[in-house]
Amino acid sequence: MLPSELHAAPLLEDTGAAHGLEGTRATDIVIVGAGLAGLTAARRLSAKGVRVVVLEARQRVGGRTLSYELRDGRVIDVGGQWVGPIPGETTSSTIPGQAVQRTQHRVFDLAKSLGIHTFKTYDSGSYVNETVSGLRTTDSGTRLPIDVGDVGAAETVLLWNQMAKQIDPTHPWDSPSREQALDWDSLTVDSWMRQNLIPPGQGPGSETYALTTLAAQSVSGPCDPRDMSFLDMLVAIATAGTIDNMINTGGGAQDSRFIGGSQRISIKLAAGLGDRVVLGAPVRSISQNRHGVTVSGDGFSVKGKAVIVALPPTLTGRIHYDPPMSEFDGGTRDQLVQRTPMGSTIKVQAFYPHPYWREQGLAGQATSDRGPITSTFDNTPFTTDAATTSSPDVSPGALVGFMDAGDAREWAQKSMAERRKATEATFARFFPGGPDAIGYLEMNWSLETYTGGCYGVFFAPGVWTSYGPALTRPVGRIHWAGSDISPVWNGYMDGAVHSGEVAATEVLEQLAHHEVALHNEPPGLKSTLR
Ligand code: FAD
Repeated sequence: MLPSELHAAPLLEDTGAAHGLEGTRATDIVIVGAGLAGLTAARRLSAKGVRVVVLEARQRVGGRTLSYELRDGRVIDVGGQWVGPIPGETTSSTIPGQAVQRTQHRVFDLAKSLGIHTFKTYDSGSYVNETVSGLRTTDSGTRLPIDVGDVGAAETVLLWNQMAKQIDPTHPWDSPSREQALDWDSLTVDSWMRQNLIPPGQGPGSETYALTTLAAQSVSGPCDPRDMSFLDMLVAIATAGTIDNMINTGGGAQDSRFIGGSQRISIKLAAGLGDRVVLGAPVRSISQNRHGVTVSGDGFSVKGKAVIVALPPTLTGRIHYDPPMSEFDGGTRDQLVQRTPMGSTIKVQAFYPHPYWREQGLAGQATSDRGPITSTFDNTPFTTDAATTSSPDVSPGALVGFMDAGDAREWAQKSMAERRKATEATFARFFPGGPDAIGYLEMNWSLETYTGGCYGVFFAPGVWTSYGPALTRPVGRIHWAGSDISPVWNGYMDGAVHSGEVAATEVLEQLAHHEVALHNEPPGLKSTLR
């Protein structure tokens, strides 16, 4: 996976975490998963004097954030990486008057409190856009040239932003009204586009369809428009404020990157928790009774008063529950997690002697409906010399691209050599005239047992309106966290941090009461959390 010429290796820092666990241990709150959500919850609870044990399946922390160190010590992210809009800066908007201020201050502030700072994503020069009409460069204010290219696409994005504003992401199943939610949730994004694009009757093959598909994919799982509920897409937009906030670089979600890599946030959080974090400890079962919970894996059990499960929803369905969750809620939660697929993405990166596209006045950012790569960015590693960071001479220069949805599924069947060839050919198509690549790095998150795909979950029609409340509702002493259930910046690192804070608050509220009537208690289960 990692060509030797790059000498790239995972960040391996000793956080003081325990490796493996045997026998039985007791604590106050057990946390499953040492991604940003689980570690945020652990930190918050520990700060309040609550004892925690964090059980992590992998031999590392960070989950969907994963950073690699190059030979010269600089770092490249193969998972989640960008942060934005960042506090104190103006939010960008394609269409005048559409801006909605919704910063990712949670993860930004958390990182800052851990001494981790950000640097700007390279965003100077023209963007490249490829649709059925061909390849063009634009000086558009947005990554999709909907403000200059296609009136139909611009009007659609405007409309989606307005529809999303009517949705309360904490209960999308009945907002703005039950009837409207049911209506939107009965359509896929594709069927909505076929019925509503302006001018009417445009399907695959038209430029408007291509541009709006790219917009939809950048807010979704990623998945194809035919896979996703139209309501789910609007919910994703609502959690971020606008589509612009999600797709734009300067002032948008791709505004900045973390110096030293995004995984460093989890590494520092874990270091603060020491051996309260246990690596290599996949959780297989959770049992609960009137006294508390027992969270077990191979050869170990941890007893506590409650558990926070901070995993993508579909992975929560791989855990065995005793009593079954259906005894609490008539089977709603179990039915829900059977319907929570993860998106498909292969993140590919090619390295060049220097970022040659900058010399040509290009930002290194492209969008395409041709595939196999549908979007690219300049991903040149940070150098401590600020002048060099934005210079064309910095070495190496890097381009990152994403093979999404159907492209990811198709290209996952091929060899790495074929994907590398396709990646370098696609980058050369967008940014011709450069030298040969000197290195290649790829990560297919669908192959990761403890992630299952990325960037996050998406819902098919009918899921939000039939099962929505079960996404966040505790089941007895089991609480849920993770970016995929967050009503703010859903699917992003910021959403993960938010969900961890919420879960910790929920548990603290329960701990504050000696006698707690747990939500949906099964008959006969009398709970006392202290
Ligand atoms: P996770 O990070 O998935 O953490 C869950 C943890 O649980 C993992 O460590 C896992 O190993 C562990 N686990 C799983 N099963 C078990 C078990 N049975 N027992 C114990 N432990 C278990 N977000 C952004 O904000 N900006 C971006 O630019 C961005 N780009 C992305 C690009 C890619 C390629 C990917 C993959 C994600 C991207 N994201 C981005 C999304 C972001 O990384 C995630 O939303 C966020 O990191 C999720 O954090 P989490 O704690 O909710 O879940």
